[in-house]
Amino acid sequence: MRMASWLWGGVAHIGLVSTCGREATPLACKDTSRGVQPLIDALVAGEPLPNPSGPRLPVSAISLLAPLPRPWRSLLCVGRNYRAHAAELSTTVFKDSAAKDDDWPIVFAKLPQCVVGPFDTVRLPGTHISDQIDYESELALVIGKGGYNITKADAMEHVLGYTIINDVTARDVQMRHKQWDLGKSFDTFCPMGPWIVTSDELDGRDTRIRGWVNGALRQDASTKDLIFDIPTLIETCSRGITLYPGDIIATGTPAGVGMGMQPPRWLTNGDVVRIEIDGLGAIENRFDYA
Ligand code: MG
Repeated sequence: MRMASWLWGGVAHIGLVSTCGREATPLACKDTSRGVQPLIDALVAGEPLPNPSGPRLPVSAISLLAPLPRPWRSLLCVGRNYRAHAAELSTTVFKDSAAKDDDWPIVFAKLPQCVVGPFDTVRLPGTHISDQIDYESELALVIGKGGYNITKADAMEHVLGYTIINDVTARDVQMRHKQWDLGKSFDTFCPMGPWIVTSDELDGRDTRIRGWVNGALRQDASTKDLIFDIPTLIETCSRGITLYPGDIIATGTPAGVGMGMQPPRWLTNGDVVRIEIDGLGAIENRFDYA
């Protein structure tokens, strides 16, 4: 099942997208401000989804929004979760955490207000705020059934599905404040979508993730290469903290970010970043000064 949120005729809708990704069926929902959260809540409660509220539409005719356009709390994000990415930033972002594979995962938050749609423009903040804007292609998991102190063995029962995010980062701000949240949470710095694919249709533990900048492939990896796998991330993030339906955990980015290049290549006005995950779809965002 592919759960999506979109604008059509100037009105927000939520509904289902066909497996081929070409047709969208709106479902009856009074409050679309929380995206597909009502569908997640219905699935978790074992209740039927709402009835269709209109005809099927070609996806090409609608404007997709983030499936969860305003998550109800911050996204939990994992840093340094692919070895090649750990290596490429070993002298910068990870200079204090390199070569500690047995350590705990690095976890930080992105504020929910930075989420934008899968094809929205990302706003460059201006070079007086940051001149080191970077992309991070990531698989994000969406929690279905909530839980507290979830064990690795039970973790996959709590995964409702998956979506794509670009964990856009202002590297200079990230590095300056030691805690990463500010440099990760600028307005528009979390493109998300194109929808949520449920875990019966996609195994996020074994899929391919790729990222392009202006058509040039920069990131290409398998989620099998995660240092801390999805069950471990859920176990870690639920230690002492209850996870709720609709919570999002971004699993980290592979090697190939702009900061890892020699010399680093930052995003600038007009650049287009595309991220594709097999079995899920693609998001594509242009970066522009406001
Ligand atoms: Mg990241």
